[in-house]
Amino acid sequence: MTVFNSPYFDGHELISFKHDERSGLRAIVAVHNSNLGPALGGCRMSPYANDDDALNDVLRLSRGMSYKSALAGLPLGGGKAVIIGDPNKIKSRDLLLAMGSFVDDLAGRYITAEDSGTAVSDLKIIAERTSYVSGVMEGGRFGGDPSPYTAQGVFYGIKAALKFKCGSDCLSGVRVAVQGAGAVGRHLIALLIGEGAQVFVADVNPQNSDLARQAGATIIGCDEVLGFKADVLAPCAMGAAINSISVESIQAGIVAGAANNQLASDAQGERLLQRGILYVPDFVINAGGIIDVYYQRAEGSSANTSAHIATIADTLLEVFTRSSASNMSTEKIAEGLAEEKFLFKKRIKAA
Ligand code: NAD
Repeated sequence: MTVFNSPYFDGHELISFKHDERSGLRAIVAVHNSNLGPALGGCRMSPYANDDDALNDVLRLSRGMSYKSALAGLPLGGGKAVIIGDPNKIKSRDLLLAMGSFVDDLAGRYITAEDSGTAVSDLKIIAERTSYVSGVMEGGRFGGDPSPYTAQGVFYGIKAALKFKCGSDCLSGVRVAVQGAGAVGRHLIALLIGEGAQVFVADVNPQNSDLARQAGATIIGCDEVLGFKADVLAPCAMGAAINSISVESIQAGIVAGAANNQLASDAQGERLLQRGILYVPDFVINAGGIIDVYYQRAEGSSANTSAHIATIADTLLEVFTRSSASNMSTEKIAEGLAEEKFLFKKRIKAA
């Protein structure tokens, strides 16, 4: 395993490894940048094939959180945690308590939250050992699950993209193809249908497809969703859905969805620009979840959360305008804007 030479190292401030023999915990916490505040990011649990995969994943995800939080205007840095192991096989109360102690040892430099492989109920156990946990608020409209807020942000982002590209954000009759009707996708589908959009959904999980059908969506095949004839393509499943092959098949004029790391590489951002397709950078449009998690920790009201999420549309408008003026991909423009925010602080610190 290489750490400093990892392709994803990118000047990370802190990378901490933990092994707890009694519970079997093997975990990594990465803090990419804390110029704007303590690093907040989810704790993912996954059966990584090897330690390198786990390290690369935590570094990539942690870096992404610096960009996401900076552009969302949150006083937070970027960080992430991974627990190595199959959540269905090795997750235990003792393992989660050991994870809580690990997070606590970092004394607030990293604040943890839910991610894939961990649930709010797990975070509540972690919170028995540390106060550096977010997204476990009781009694909120949606409990600790940020997915509905992520969907809300994606919904605003789709409307902002329609307004920029077509001059109107009216969704009535607009055809939207959604890949993935999971936690975020299903809330997004409800919001879209609620405003009159025609929604086409593909999901590998028949139960989630059924729920989408019951909500009023038309089910389409997983192999046809990316190239489906729609106005908007909303990738809400896994990362890297848009690769060098699928990018050529896209017929929608707008790509705007919740999935993290939708582009397999920067080249797809350039290609979408060349093809005249408006790509809405994922780390901008899917920030509703981190905004919610931030306000849960700050004990803000859901009105504060929703008002903040609505600003995603303003940020996107700036990204679209700069992209169209410079002919640079929206992804690159958004990254540059984020760096202006969190690296500018670094320059002040260094002075
Ligand atoms: P989820 O696991 O609840 O839902 C994903 C859905 O995609 C599932 O229904 C799954 O069956 C389906 N799926 C998987 N592969 C597919 C494929 N090839 N074709 C069609 N469907 C497929 O996850 P989620 O919480 O809804 O998150 C969705 C995406 O959004 C992920 O990339 C996640 O990282 C990102 N995201 C989520 C949040 C959040 O608040 N949950 C926040 C930011 C980003």
